[in-house]
Amino acid sequence: MVISVIIALLPIAIFFIINVIDNNKEEIMQKLKIEKKEIMKCSSCFKEYDDLKLKNCLHCGSNVKKRIKYIIPEKLKKKIIYGLIVVTIIIIGILIYLGISCMIKEKQRNEKYNNDIYICYETIRNESNYNKFKSIVDEHTREANFRQEAYNNLYKAVDDRIESLKNGNDDKDLITMLEDIKKREISNKEIEERYLKANSYSNIIQCNKYIEEQKFKEAYDLFGTIINDNKDKNQDIVDIATNKQNEIKDKAFEQIVAQAQEKINAQNYSSAQTLLSTYKDLGNQTILDMYNNATNEVNRIEAERKAKEEAERKEREKKEAEEKAKREAEEKARKKSQGVTIGMSKQDVLDSSWGEPLRINTTTTKYGVHEQWVYGGGNYLYFDNGKLTSIQN
Ligand SMILES: [Zn+2]
Repeated sequence: MVISVIIALLPIAIFFIINVIDNNKEEIMQKLKIEKKEIMKCSSCFKEYDDLKLKNCLHCGSNVKKRIKYIIPEKLKKKIIYGLIVVTIIIIGILIYLGISCMIKEKQRNEKYNNDIYICYETIRNESNYNKFKSIVDEHTREANFRQEAYNNLYKAVDDRIESLKNGNDDKDLITMLEDIKKREISNKEIEERYLKANSYSNIIQCNKYIEEQKFKEAYDLFGTIINDNKDKNQDIVDIATNKQNEIKDKAFEQIVAQAQEKINAQNYSSAQTLLSTYKDLGNQTILDMYNNATNEVNRIEAERKAKEEAERKEREKKEAEEKAKREAEEKARKKSQGVTIGMSKQDVLDSSWGEPLRINTTTTKYGVHEQWVYGGGNYLYFDNGKLTSIQN
């Protein structure tokens, strides 16, 4: 910092000094005992002559011109030479200092770079600390290659841990860390692939535990998941899982049959059917037969349930129809108990206490249809165009 300020100010200082010297030329010359002398100088070979009347160079014959020559005393000359030597040494010293400090800085930067790259591996390999990794990468955004190198180390550290997982050392921390990275670095294929591998090897370890605990069905199912997940991706994992799955196949099927039998004994046919449907096409005749039986039972129960429902529906409809008929009969009886009023329709009258007449006399005129309903006992009703217009009793 200080050095760069000095370098920046140097031209200004030099300019200032030259200016001062120029303004006090005569005084300085007197003080330093510098003499001024007129001479003739050849413009071609630069030979000097004291004779001011000379016109041509005695050496080459070219024109000579008048010049002013400054004669510097020997002592001063020495002083100037020493001064120049000192200044040169100082400048060289400064340049060496700058060079060395630059080199030291570069060396320190290099050491930090290499150290941080190493920590990027260490923290993923041994601490599962993705946050620390990320913050180190963020410190080196100005260095073009750091990010790529750091990520190469991350992948290498993960691969080393997967290798250990493959050898049967379970590593839940690795799975958790990869899940976290997967969430934060969406569509990072390198991480996706490694997560699948790590998870599959971890699941294989889990399968082996199931087998130790005699949980063959669970192991069989989990091997199936592993095979499915790695199909067309990791053939070696598919091979391992397929081989182990085949080894425990018979025992797993025995357990499945036992579980299904329990459900059937408890008449839980649809649950048995669901369980068996997953395994029915794997070439085991017992399972297929049980599945078919359970399916028949489920269908039979379903048919019975539908028939029962249908019968219940019919019974309900019959009851409703009966109730409706009863309500209508009651309504009719109620109307019948009531007398007739002017303006009633023929149906209203039929529904009333008057009911059916003994006889009807009909007269048709140009004004319409006139009817006389005869009830006996001197009771008559008269209708004009279907409406009751007159009552006689
Ligand atoms: Zn000359």
